[in-house]
Amino acid sequence: MINIAIDGPAGAGKSTIAKLLSKKLGIIYLDTGAMYRTVALKAVKSGIDTKDADALGEMVKDINIEIKFDQDGQRIFLDNEDVTDQIRTKEISIASSDVAVVPAVRLKMVELQRRIASQNSVVMDGRDIGTYVLPNADFKFFLTASLEERANRRFSEMREKNPDITFEEVYKDIEYRDKNDSSRQFAPLKKAEDAIEIDTTKMTIDEVVNRITGVIGNELLRQDR
Ligand code: C5P
Repeated sequence: MINIAIDGPAGAGKSTIAKLLSKKLGIIYLDTGAMYRTVALKAVKSGIDTKDADALGEMVKDINIEIKFDQDGQRIFLDNEDVTDQIRTKEISIASSDVAVVPAVRLKMVELQRRIASQNSVVMDGRDIGTYVLPNADFKFFLTASLEERANRRFSEMREKNPDITFEEVYKDIEYRDKNDSSRQFAPLKKAEDAIEIDTTKMTIDEVVNRITGVIGNELLRQDR
């Protein structure tokens, strides 16, 4: 079994890289951001204030989130409904960063994340995987890129599904989440001391994947010796 943690801010390339890496290694990829997005979706649908910690704490007590892994990655279900596509809006992005501040929400999600990692070899991406969820992960990477570059990447990605979105809106969303995610008290976005940091601003996707597989391959070869 192997556990690989990939953390970093929004738009640094985590999900693209993690997905490719999981395919190369033949193991599953868990996108933990989708879980916080699903909690946010439930709050919004239920009319719960996404900053009301008590109400969110109550709400997650019996929340039913299921993740199914298939060839193309993961599908996420909220109360038996496939919400994989519904959670990719600008509103849910911001709301997810707000609900992710609440310790009761995090503890509930972390429980599920750790269970999946204990039963499967996994590439897991998020904000606190190397520092909090899987402190003993076999490999930890922390991806970064300039805010401008991350907003550009996210903008091209979101524009496909949502042609009305502006660069300015995407930039503001990322800027807000960077600040919110790094300044929260419990399990903030932070590089683990033993994580390898990769600035992807000027790198292609292939270059990042090669860098990571290089690190993993070398280490596994070293252990074999
Ligand atoms: O990765 P993604 O951008 O989809 O994550 C949405 C939000 O979920 C982030 O802005 C962050 O607030 C939260 N999150 C988190 N911890 C994780 C993954 C995501 O707090 N491990």
